[in-house]
Amino acid sequence: MLVDSHCHLEYEGLVESQDDVLDRARARGVGAFLNISTKQSEWAQVVGTANRRDTVWASVGIHPHNADDHPELTRAELLEATRNARVIGIGETGLDYYYDHSDREAQKRLFRMHISVSRETGLPLIIHTRDAEEDTLAILREEMGQGTFAALIHCFTASAEFGEHVLELGLSISLSGIVTFKNAKDLQAFAKTLPQDRLLVETDSPFLAPVPHRGKTCEPAFVGDTAAFLAELRNEEPDDLARYTTDNFYRLFSKAQRP
Ligand SMILES: [Zn+2]
Ligand SMILES: [Zn+2]
Repeated sequence: MLVDSHCHLEYEGLVESQDDVLDRARARGVGAFLNISTKQSEWAQVVGTANRRDTVWASVGIHPHNADDHPELTRAELLEATRNARVIGIGETGLDYYYDHSDREAQKRLFRMHISVSRETGLPLIIHTRDAEEDTLAILREEMGQGTFAALIHCFTASAEFGEHVLELGLSISLSGIVTFKNAKDLQAFAKTLPQDRLLVETDSPFLAPVPHRGKTCEPAFVGDTAAFLAELRNEEPDDLARYTTDNFYRLFSKAQRP
């Protein structure tokens, strides 16, 4: 069994045919899904889908792109949203200086708020970081110094150096279909070195369809292609990779019950 540790089931491309999308994933051995929030207005829908389907779990959080749209969001509101039984993680949160869709100070403020709620609840943080390695690492180090929390870098595309630093901080790393891309040589080299107990897999669907589905709408079934690619790259048995990435998911997201 595989787990898609990061998908956006409410986004256009997946939401219109969620039943079929999940059936196709199950047919490929994908047994659980983490449905990720990116803004407060979608929390109810993301959690609602998880309420209706026992293999779907939910996160609550604000994507860095949307930080500017949440000047009023309070820590108490985020904390309250995590109390739902189906909410097993906090995010996605973090810093995105590639697009700079939101003011960097607003991104940092929310990132720290998510960290604080993660520390209080024990729920792991789902971190998005792009072109912001230095500030992401500085905030993680400073905040870890004030009390540890569990976290994962999702859709990892950063440098190997950044990867090693976050592994030292105890974080896990999730790889998406990007690792299958022909031009992702540096990421592939880093993926080979990742310890088995820190690696998770995801689609980030409906974005980033892996080889051989590039150009199509990505869907959770395709986590099977990324996992197969990684097993070959790492010279491991596909069943072993499925087993340990699934174990890692349930160890990190420990509020989720295994089916
Ligand atoms: Zn992301
Ligand atoms: Zn995402």
